[in-house]
Amino acid sequence: MSRPGATDPGVDFAGITPELLARYDRPGPRYTSYPTAPHFTASFGAAEYRSALERAAAHPDEPLSLYVHVPFCEARCTYCGCNVVIAPHRGPEERYLEAVERELEIVAGLLGARRTLAQLHWGGGTPTYLTPAQCERLFGAITRRFRLAPGAEVAIEIDPCVTTDEHLATLRRLGFNRVSLGAQDFNPQVQEAVHRVQPLELTRHQVELARDLGFSSVNIDLIYGLPFQTAASFKAAVETVIAELAPDRVAVFSYAHVPWLKPHQKALERLPMPRGWEKFLVFAAAAEAFLAAGYRFIGMDHFARPGDELARALDGGTLHRNFMGYTVLPATDQIGVGMTAIGDVGGAYVQNEKNLARYQRTLAEGRLPVERGLVRSAEDDVRGAVIRRLICTFGLDFAWVRERLGVEPREMFARELAALAAPAADDLVTVDESGVRVRPRGRVFIRNLCMPFDAYLAGDAGKTVYSRTV
Ligand code: SF4
Repeated sequence: MSRPGATDPGVDFAGITPELLARYDRPGPRYTSYPTAPHFTASFGAAEYRSALERAAAHPDEPLSLYVHVPFCEARCTYCGCNVVIAPHRGPEERYLEAVERELEIVAGLLGARRTLAQLHWGGGTPTYLTPAQCERLFGAITRRFRLAPGAEVAIEIDPCVTTDEHLATLRRLGFNRVSLGAQDFNPQVQEAVHRVQPLELTRHQVELARDLGFSSVNIDLIYGLPFQTAASFKAAVETVIAELAPDRVAVFSYAHVPWLKPHQKALERLPMPRGWEKFLVFAAAAEAFLAAGYRFIGMDHFARPGDELARALDGGTLHRNFMGYTVLPATDQIGVGMTAIGDVGGAYVQNEKNLARYQRTLAEGRLPVERGLVRSAEDDVRGAVIRRLICTFGLDFAWVRERLGVEPREMFARELAALAAPAADDLVTVDESGVRVRPRGRVFIRNLCMPFDAYLAGDAGKTVYSRTV
């Protein structure tokens, strides 16, 4: 059985054996929030969200982050795990845009004078399902109510198959400066198997156009663990990405096979899919190619060029993590708008209606379309800060915990630190008087190292809500 060969001072893939992987490859959160979304409850509704927005309004000078969800896609990719509405024919998005504008109006009203955005992100679904004119309309609905801070990150996820040159030119003119393209894999056999045929030429054209138009950052999303992928085939695809697209940042997501939540994924089960050790080798081959080309391993599943802000933030200890993944922006209130969107506002998490009809109907009645949420306790905030620190800096200085969080780590986390003894014996982490340090081979298992600090996880036993480590 072959072994991954990639090592760099930051991360050690070569030290991972099948036995080690088997011990740590288990379901766990990706910690884009803490507590994680499965713990949001329906006892948090519109009244609680109003209160949270009013608390956020009390800090009018602090910037905000705004996420807008556009759920539509023309066709379903078989691996899809997102909250989407499949709409082959245009039309439903008009009513949706009306609802989003109503939501923006209510939310902005409750935020009072707090209207500056440091980060704006459109995700989906497929945001470029909207026509260029509809993109302009949605952008106008936002900027009539919020102003973009100088240097704000204005980002959009695009599907090259439905994105035109006019889309990109319009988005750039509006002020978007970051673009993220889904690519998954350029092996034609894999693309056909997952119902997402996307020629390299098309993707390359859009990357080049985005650069010509002045987008400052191009991100490519890949997925490993798909049917027919092997370490050799995926490494070849990654080398193509590096040579032909030269992205600033790359996310190499693990395919999460959750057919009990996404029944359409069952169609993939009759195809050969890499699992367990074989799946890890596919990821390690991709990592090896990125590291050999000079990219930095940011954490979990992200790589970036050394000069990219994410790599600089990793080195400077200023990396952050929120619902959009790794970011250089400090934690701030994050508003989610649109069906299923999640926000982090005034010390509470809030998630909107997942059903399109209910989302639109609730807003037509002038009410906030909240489905569930959670008001964080003081303990939640301390644990969330510890988990973010581990994920973003691969370490936890006890002095930082005392100074910033006001607790004595060796007392509050005695049980959690004891639980790191087994990973320490596997050389994944060290724990001493000054703090916790993640070892190079432990970076691959960072989620596992965060899990002991998650007070909710014991109650999740037997639940199948999280994807596996690889
Ligand atoms: S384009 Fe993205 S969101 Fe839409 S079906 Fe495919 S994977 Fe899902």
